Amino acid sequence: HAKQDRHAVRRFHANLSDSALERMELEQALRVALDREEFCLHYQPIVDTATGEVRALEALVRWQHPELGLVPPGRFIPLVESTDLIVPLGEWVLREAARQLATWRQARPALRVSVNVAPRQLAQPEFAGVVRAVLDEFQLDPQALMLEVTEGAVFGGPGGDDHTARVASLGLPLALDDFGTGYSSISRLHRLPAQWLKIDRSLIQDQDAPPPARSSRPIVRALITFAHEAGVQVVAEGVERPEQWRDLREWGCDLIQGYYVSRPCAPADLTWGPWPVPSGQ
Ligand code: C2E
Ligand code: CA
Ligand code: CA
Ligand code: CA
Repeated sequence: HAKQDRHAVRRFHANLSDSALERMELEQALRVALDREEFCLHYQPIVDTATGEVRALEALVRWQHPELGLVPPGRFIPLVESTDLIVPLGEWVLREAARQLATWRQARPALRVSVNVAPRQLAQPEFAGVVRAVLDEFQLDPQALMLEVTEGAVFGGPGGDDHTARVASLGLPLALDDFGTGYSSISRLHRLPAQWLKIDRSLIQDQDAPPPARSSRPIVRALITFAHEAGVQVVAEGVERPEQWRDLREWGCDLIQGYYVSRPCAPADLTWGPWPVPSGQ
Protein backbone atom coordinates (compact mmCIF):
# COMPACT_ATOMS: atom_id res chain seq x y z
CA HIS A 1 0.00 0.00 0.00
CA ALA A 2 3.03 2.26 0.34
CA LYS A 3 2.67 3.57 -3.20
CA GLN A 4 -1.00 4.29 -2.67
CA ASP A 5 -0.25 6.14 0.59
CA ARG A 6 2.34 8.22 -1.17
CA HIS A 7 -0.09 9.23 -3.87
CA ALA A 8 -2.79 10.07 -1.40
CA VAL A 9 -0.50 12.25 0.66
CA ARG A 10 1.02 13.97 -2.38
CA ARG A 11 -2.35 14.82 -3.74
CA PHE A 12 -3.46 16.09 -0.40
CA HIS A 13 -0.26 18.09 -0.17
CA ALA A 14 -0.84 19.60 -3.57
CA ASN A 15 -4.21 20.63 -2.23
CA LEU A 16 -5.72 20.10 -5.65
CA SER A 17 -9.08 18.97 -4.49
CA ASP A 18 -10.72 17.41 -1.51
CA SER A 19 -12.94 15.05 -3.40
CA ALA A 20 -14.50 12.23 -1.44
CA LEU A 21 -12.18 9.69 -3.10
CA GLU A 22 -9.03 11.55 -2.14
CA ARG A 23 -10.24 12.00 1.39
CA MET A 24 -10.81 8.28 1.60
CA GLU A 25 -7.30 7.55 0.30
CA LEU A 26 -5.71 9.88 2.84
CA GLU A 27 -7.90 8.47 5.57
CA GLN A 28 -6.70 4.99 4.66
CA ALA A 29 -3.07 6.16 4.68
CA LEU A 30 -3.57 7.69 8.12
CA ARG A 31 -5.11 4.48 9.43
CA VAL A 32 -2.00 2.58 8.33
CA ALA A 33 0.23 5.29 9.84
CA LEU A 34 -1.54 4.89 13.16
CA ASP A 35 -0.99 1.11 13.06
CA ARG A 36 2.70 1.62 12.28
CA GLU A 37 3.07 4.35 14.91
CA GLU A 38 4.42 6.85 12.42
CA PHE A 39 3.40 9.82 14.56
CA CYS A 40 5.63 11.71 16.94
CA LEU A 41 5.31 14.68 19.24
CA HIS A 42 7.28 17.90 19.21
CA TYR A 43 7.17 20.25 22.17
CA GLN A 44 7.18 24.03 22.35
CA PRO A 45 8.08 25.90 25.57
CA ILE A 46 5.54 28.18 27.25
CA VAL A 47 7.55 30.73 29.15
CA ASP A 48 6.98 33.09 32.08
CA THR A 49 6.85 36.58 30.56
CA ALA A 50 8.55 38.20 33.56
CA THR A 51 11.31 35.67 34.31
CA GLY A 52 11.92 33.79 31.04
CA GLU A 53 11.52 30.45 32.82
CA VAL A 54 9.76 27.55 31.14
CA ARG A 55 6.44 26.72 32.82
CA ALA A 56 4.98 24.22 30.40
CA LEU A 57 5.42 22.62 27.00
CA GLU A 58 2.72 22.28 24.36
CA ALA A 59 2.69 18.86 22.67
CA LEU A 60 2.25 19.17 18.89
CA VAL A 61 1.80 16.09 16.71
CA ARG A 62 3.75 15.38 13.50
CA TRP A 63 3.49 12.57 11.00
CA GLN A 64 6.86 10.95 10.37
CA HIS A 65 6.13 9.69 6.87
CA PRO A 66 8.67 7.12 5.57
CA GLU A 67 9.12 9.00 2.26
CA LEU A 68 7.72 12.48 2.76
CA GLY A 69 9.50 13.12 6.02
CA LEU A 70 7.92 15.19 8.77
CA VAL A 71 4.37 16.19 7.79
CA PRO A 72 3.01 19.12 9.84
CA PRO A 73 -0.40 18.76 11.50
CA GLY A 74 -1.96 21.45 9.29
CA ARG A 75 -1.79 18.88 6.46
CA PHE A 76 -3.69 16.10 8.13
CA ILE A 77 -5.28 17.19 11.43
CA PRO A 78 -8.29 18.91 9.79
CA LEU A 79 -9.17 15.67 7.98
CA VAL A 80 -8.43 13.52 11.02
CA GLU A 81 -10.58 15.78 13.20
CA SER A 82 -13.48 15.41 10.78
CA THR A 83 -13.46 11.60 11.22
CA ASP A 84 -13.42 9.19 14.15
CA LEU A 85 -9.70 8.65 13.47
CA ILE A 86 -9.09 11.54 15.86
CA VAL A 87 -10.20 9.32 18.73
CA PRO A 88 -7.35 6.78 18.51
CA LEU A 89 -4.84 9.44 17.40
CA GLY A 90 -5.89 11.75 20.22
CA GLU A 91 -5.53 8.91 22.71
CA TRP A 92 -2.05 8.13 21.39
CA VAL A 93 -1.07 11.81 21.75
CA LEU A 94 -2.35 11.93 25.31
CA ARG A 95 -0.54 8.76 26.34
CA GLU A 96 2.73 9.69 24.61
CA ALA A 97 2.70 13.19 26.14
CA ALA A 98 2.01 11.71 29.59
CA ARG A 99 4.81 9.17 29.23
CA GLN A 100 7.28 11.87 28.21
CA LEU A 101 6.10 14.24 30.95
CA ALA A 102 6.52 11.57 33.64
CA THR A 103 10.20 11.20 32.75
CA TRP A 104 10.75 15.00 32.64
CA ARG A 105 8.99 15.50 35.98
CA GLN A 106 11.67 13.47 37.75
CA ALA A 107 14.08 16.40 37.28
CA ARG A 108 11.45 19.18 36.95
CA PRO A 109 8.58 18.42 39.30
CA ALA A 110 6.64 21.60 38.45
CA LEU A 111 6.71 21.11 34.68
CA ARG A 112 3.42 20.73 32.81
CA VAL A 113 2.54 19.53 29.35
CA SER A 114 -0.50 20.77 27.48
CA VAL A 115 -2.25 18.62 24.91
CA ASN A 116 -4.68 19.69 22.18
CA VAL A 117 -8.07 18.01 22.42
CA ALA A 118 -10.39 17.92 19.41
CA PRO A 119 -14.17 18.44 19.57
CA ARG A 120 -14.89 14.80 18.75
CA GLN A 121 -12.72 13.59 21.59
CA LEU A 122 -14.64 15.73 24.07
CA ALA A 123 -17.89 14.42 22.67
CA GLN A 124 -16.89 10.80 23.46
CA PRO A 125 -18.46 9.55 26.68
CA GLU A 126 -15.29 7.45 27.20
CA PHE A 127 -12.96 10.46 27.17
CA ALA A 128 -12.92 11.01 30.93
CA GLY A 129 -12.08 7.34 31.49
CA VAL A 130 -9.22 7.49 29.00
CA VAL A 131 -7.75 10.56 30.71
CA ARG A 132 -7.96 8.91 34.12
CA ALA A 133 -6.37 5.69 32.84
CA VAL A 134 -3.47 7.63 31.30
CA LEU A 135 -2.85 9.59 34.52
CA ASP A 136 -2.88 6.32 36.50
CA GLU A 137 -0.59 4.53 34.07
CA PHE A 138 2.15 7.16 34.52
CA GLN A 139 1.23 8.12 38.09
CA LEU A 140 0.81 11.74 37.13
CA ASP A 141 -0.72 14.47 39.23
CA PRO A 142 -3.82 15.66 37.28
CA GLN A 143 -2.45 19.21 37.59
CA ALA A 144 0.56 18.21 35.49
CA LEU A 145 -1.40 17.63 32.32
CA MET A 146 -3.31 20.48 30.70
CA LEU A 147 -5.93 20.18 28.01
CA GLU A 148 -6.16 22.79 25.27
CA VAL A 149 -9.70 23.16 24.02
CA THR A 150 -11.32 25.64 21.67
CA GLU A 151 -14.56 27.48 22.25
CA GLY A 152 -16.16 25.52 19.42
CA ALA A 153 -15.24 22.21 21.03
CA VAL A 154 -16.55 23.10 24.46
CA PHE A 155 -19.61 25.18 23.77
CA GLY A 156 -20.63 23.55 20.50
CA GLY A 157 -21.76 25.21 17.33
CA PRO A 158 -25.36 25.88 16.40
CA GLY A 159 -27.27 22.94 17.84
CA GLY A 160 -24.02 21.53 19.23
CA ASP A 161 -23.74 20.02 22.67
CA ASP A 162 -22.46 22.03 25.56
CA HIS A 163 -19.57 20.10 27.07
CA THR A 164 -18.75 22.65 29.76
CA ALA A 165 -19.78 20.47 32.68
CA ARG A 166 -18.11 17.34 31.35
CA VAL A 167 -14.83 19.14 30.63
CA ALA A 168 -14.82 20.76 34.05
CA SER A 169 -15.47 17.44 35.77
CA LEU A 170 -12.26 15.96 34.35
CA GLY A 171 -10.38 17.86 37.04
CA LEU A 172 -7.52 18.76 34.70
CA PRO A 173 -6.39 22.33 34.13
CA LEU A 174 -7.81 23.75 30.92
CA ALA A 175 -6.51 26.24 28.39
CA LEU A 176 -8.94 28.00 26.09
CA ASP A 177 -7.03 27.83 22.78
CA ASP A 178 -6.95 30.11 19.72
CA PHE A 179 -8.88 32.86 21.47
CA GLY A 180 -9.65 35.74 19.14
CA THR A 181 -10.40 33.60 16.07
CA GLY A 182 -13.96 32.87 15.06
CA TYR A 183 -16.73 34.08 17.32
CA SER A 184 -14.86 34.49 20.56
CA SER A 185 -16.77 35.53 23.57
CA ILE A 186 -15.05 36.81 26.67
CA SER A 187 -18.25 36.27 28.67
CA ARG A 188 -17.79 32.50 28.31
CA LEU A 189 -14.66 32.71 30.42
CA HIS A 190 -16.96 32.93 33.40
CA ARG A 191 -18.67 29.67 32.44
CA LEU A 192 -15.57 27.64 31.65
CA PRO A 193 -13.18 27.14 34.54
CA ALA A 194 -10.09 27.60 32.38
CA GLN A 195 -6.71 28.38 33.95
CA TRP A 196 -5.34 29.85 30.75
CA LEU A 197 -6.60 31.97 27.92
CA LYS A 198 -4.40 31.52 24.86
CA ILE A 199 -4.58 34.57 22.60
CA ASP A 200 -4.31 33.48 18.98
CA ARG A 201 -1.19 34.53 17.14
CA SER A 202 -3.17 36.53 14.58
CA LEU A 203 -3.91 39.08 17.32
CA ILE A 204 -0.33 39.05 18.61
CA GLN A 205 1.11 39.55 15.15
CA ASP A 206 -1.31 42.36 14.31
CA GLN A 207 -0.01 44.24 17.33
CA ASP A 208 2.26 46.20 15.04
CA ALA A 209 0.28 45.94 11.82
CA PRO A 210 1.09 48.75 9.38
CA PRO A 211 -1.74 51.12 8.40
CA PRO A 212 -4.41 50.96 7.08
CA ALA A 213 -4.91 47.81 9.17
CA ARG A 214 -5.91 48.63 12.73
CA SER A 215 -3.53 47.52 15.40
CA SER A 216 -4.87 44.83 17.71
CA ARG A 217 -2.98 46.30 20.67
CA PRO A 218 -6.07 47.65 22.47
CA ILE A 219 -7.82 44.29 22.05
CA VAL A 220 -4.89 42.35 23.45
CA ARG A 221 -4.63 44.72 26.41
CA ALA A 222 -8.36 44.48 27.08
CA LEU A 223 -8.28 40.67 26.89
CA ILE A 224 -5.48 40.57 29.45
CA THR A 225 -7.47 42.85 31.79
CA PHE A 226 -10.71 40.86 31.39
CA ALA A 227 -8.97 37.52 31.84
CA HIS A 228 -7.24 38.67 35.01
CA GLU A 229 -10.55 39.91 36.42
CA ALA A 230 -11.93 36.42 35.78
CA GLY A 231 -8.90 34.88 37.54
CA VAL A 232 -7.48 33.48 34.32
CA GLN A 233 -3.83 33.66 33.21
CA VAL A 234 -3.02 34.77 29.68
CA VAL A 235 -0.71 33.06 27.19
CA ALA A 236 0.26 35.02 24.07
CA GLU A 237 0.84 32.71 21.09
CA GLY A 238 3.10 33.39 18.12
CA VAL A 239 5.62 35.74 19.74
CA GLU A 240 8.31 36.15 17.10
CA ARG A 241 10.10 39.35 18.10
CA PRO A 242 11.57 40.81 21.30
CA GLU A 243 9.39 43.96 20.98
CA GLN A 244 6.27 41.80 21.25
CA TRP A 245 7.59 40.12 24.38
CA ARG A 246 8.47 43.54 25.85
CA ASP A 247 4.98 44.95 25.17
CA LEU A 248 3.24 41.85 26.51
CA ARG A 249 5.33 42.00 29.65
CA GLU A 250 4.43 45.66 30.15
CA TRP A 251 0.73 44.79 29.73
CA GLY A 252 0.92 42.07 32.39
CA CYS A 253 0.55 39.09 30.06
CA ASP A 254 1.56 36.05 32.13
CA LEU A 255 3.08 33.66 29.59
CA ILE A 256 4.40 33.69 26.05
CA GLN A 257 4.92 31.05 23.40
CA GLY A 258 6.48 31.52 20.00
CA TYR A 259 9.38 31.15 17.61
CA TYR A 260 11.29 33.97 19.34
CA VAL A 261 11.68 31.71 22.38
CA SER A 262 11.76 28.37 20.59
CA ARG A 263 10.20 26.48 17.72
CA PRO A 264 8.54 23.20 18.62
CA CYS A 265 11.32 20.58 18.95
CA ALA A 266 11.83 16.87 19.39
CA PRO A 267 12.50 16.08 23.07
CA ALA A 268 16.24 15.59 22.49
CA ASP A 269 16.57 19.05 20.88
CA LEU A 270 14.73 21.06 23.55
CA THR A 271 16.44 23.92 25.32
CA TRP A 272 15.19 24.63 28.81
CA GLY A 273 16.02 28.28 29.39
CA PRO A 274 15.66 30.48 31.28
CA TRP A 275 15.61 32.82 28.30
CA PRO A 276 16.84 36.38 28.73
CA VAL A 277 13.89 38.75 29.12
CA PRO A 278 14.10 41.63 26.63
CA SER A 279 14.76 44.77 28.63
CA GLY A 280 12.66 47.97 28.51
CA GLN A 281 13.67 50.91 26.34
P1 C2E B 1 -2.24 25.35 17.80
O1 C2E B 1 -2.86 24.49 18.84
O2 C2E B 1 -2.67 26.76 17.75
O3 C2E B 1 -0.66 25.22 17.99
C1 C2E B 1 0.24 26.29 17.80
C2 C2E B 1 0.78 26.30 16.39
O4 C2E B 1 1.45 27.55 16.17
C3 C2E B 1 1.83 25.22 16.14
O5 C2E B 1 1.72 24.82 14.79
C4 C2E B 1 3.12 26.00 16.35
O6 C2E B 1 4.24 25.42 15.69
C5 C2E B 1 2.77 27.31 15.75
N1 C2E B 1 3.60 28.39 16.27
C6 C2E B 1 4.15 28.50 17.50
N2 C2E B 1 4.84 29.65 17.62
C7 C2E B 1 4.74 30.30 16.45
C8 C2E B 1 5.23 31.55 15.97
O7 C2E B 1 5.93 32.30 16.66
N3 C2E B 1 4.90 31.89 14.70
C9 C2E B 1 4.13 31.10 13.91
N4 C2E B 1 3.86 31.50 12.67
N5 C2E B 1 3.63 29.90 14.33
C10 C2E B 1 3.93 29.52 15.59
P2 C2E B 1 1.67 23.27 14.38
O8 C2E B 1 2.56 22.45 15.26
O9 C2E B 1 1.89 23.22 12.91
O10 C2E B 1 0.18 22.86 14.72
C11 C2E B 1 -0.90 23.40 14.01
C12 C2E B 1 -2.22 23.04 14.64
O11 C2E B 1 -2.48 21.64 14.54
C13 C2E B 1 -2.29 23.34 16.14
O12 C2E B 1 -2.52 24.72 16.34
C14 C2E B 1 -3.47 22.47 16.54
O13 C2E B 1 -4.69 23.11 16.23
C15 C2E B 1 -3.29 21.27 15.63
N6 C2E B 1 -2.64 20.19 16.39
C16 C2E B 1 -1.33 19.97 16.63
N7 C2E B 1 -1.14 18.88 17.39
C17 C2E B 1 -2.38 18.39 17.65
C18 C2E B 1 -2.87 17.25 18.39
O14 C2E B 1 -2.11 16.48 19.00
N8 C2E B 1 -4.23 17.06 18.41
C19 C2E B 1 -5.08 17.91 17.77
N9 C2E B 1 -6.41 17.66 17.84
N10 C2E B 1 -4.66 18.99 17.08
C20 C2E B 1 -3.32 19.23 17.02
CA1 CA C 1 -2.98 24.55 21.02
CA1 CA D 1 -3.42 27.96 19.55
CA1 CA E 1 -5.66 25.37 16.79
